[in-house]
Amino acid sequence: MKRLFHLLATLSLTLSAAGLASAQSSPYPGADLSQTYDRLLAKINAIPLFDNHSHPGFSDDSDVDAMAAPPDESSVLRLRDDNPEFVAASKFLFNYPYDDFKPEHAKWLADRKKAAEAAGGQAYFDSILDKLNVETCLANRAFMAPYLNPKRFHWVFFADSFFYPFDNRDQTASTPDMGVYIPLQEKMLARYKKQMNEDALPADLAGFENFVRNTMADNQKRGGVAVKFEAAYFRTLYFTDPPREKADAIYAKYHSGGVPTAEDYRFFQDYIFRVIVDQAGKLKLPVHFHSAVGIGDYFSLRQGNVLNLENVLRDARYKNVTFVLLHGGWPYEREAALLTAVKNVYLDTSLQSEMLYPSQFKSVLKQFLTLYPDKMMFGSDAFPFNDALGAEESFWIAAGTTRTALAGALAELVSEHAISEDKALELAHLYLHDNAAKLYGSLSAAPQSGSGGTK
Ligand SMILES: [Zn+2]
Repeated sequence: MKRLFHLLATLSLTLSAAGLASAQSSPYPGADLSQTYDRLLAKINAIPLFDNHSHPGFSDDSDVDAMAAPPDESSVLRLRDDNPEFVAASKFLFNYPYDDFKPEHAKWLADRKKAAEAAGGQAYFDSILDKLNVETCLANRAFMAPYLNPKRFHWVFFADSFFYPFDNRDQTASTPDMGVYIPLQEKMLARYKKQMNEDALPADLAGFENFVRNTMADNQKRGGVAVKFEAAYFRTLYFTDPPREKADAIYAKYHSGGVPTAEDYRFFQDYIFRVIVDQAGKLKLPVHFHSAVGIGDYFSLRQGNVLNLENVLRDARYKNVTFVLLHGGWPYEREAALLTAVKNVYLDTSLQSEMLYPSQFKSVLKQFLTLYPDKMMFGSDAFPFNDALGAEESFWIAAGTTRTALAGALAELVSEHAISEDKALELAHLYLHDNAAKLYGSLSAAPQSGSGGTK
């Protein structure tokens, strides 16, 4: 009996050791890596994209964003005009006949886009999406444009201007960048006031709160599907939780004049932030945050660090509010990914997909895919850089980078025996399309003229 037991124990140990050996993932990919990559990429190319974050539009359309770049901002290498990949983009999208962007050549491209703009109609940007197999696209713009098809492009409106109802001269003077940003926030608030037929600021905080809530509800009726904060450009992402009386007193003190102290302004903003988040929850509008490094010489990496949002993201009062960390927190992308363990927190990889080369972005995706793959979404952050290099080329670079980096990350995981090829394709569908389609409900179910459905 004892011998039998020993024999069985030895046998099961041997079996489990063998099982373990065949099931344990390897730190190195196998010889099948490049074939696995090719197979996965072909299938990934056929998956229609749902773009969680972009700024589609022509280069002279100032509504593509609620802010503008400060003068002489530093551009990262890949997003400079002389990146030869942009030539490839223009050839793919427009059969661009040149191999560089010498001014006389770039004019060919700029003229073509001017002609598309002058012709009007929604077919032009639809055709860009079709060429890149993008099904649905969230457009983070000050206001939407008639040349964007509302069946394909859905509006993400801005909320930051509600932070600046008072005399902003100290804010505007604080840095050269704020000198660009804050007047644009004032302009945005003035447009919202006009939209809601408010001639002046409401007399008390209750009135201002109503104005904020009603504007958000009205924006939703105008097609808004989410609300966006680019607050990281202007202030810390750490929001305190001041009592209403405090905000009430600050509003009473400054609504008809006087320059608020920095501290008063920040308390007021922290309070209004919570009104906006509460209303977003009531309206079932996901809340988007710029959560990565930003442009300009005065962007604070410390204040813009996504971890500053942790007290809000983990606040049980907001468990019914959906939060989306745009740009996946980069360069604090692991922190952002770990925050998506919270059930109502998601992220997208916009910006990273333009700024990082596929080899670098592959590492990010490999990490994300093995944490919470049901919480990550594709995004481009496509933006019209100048007259020649537009949102169109920017869509191309983000889509291509994402598809190749994703195929690379998944091929490694398959080849290392971490996941099966079927599982890899399931994760690809979640990230490129299905997570966003589920999050925003019926948007991607809208009838498509182009490339809906898996090919
Ligand atoms: Zn953006």
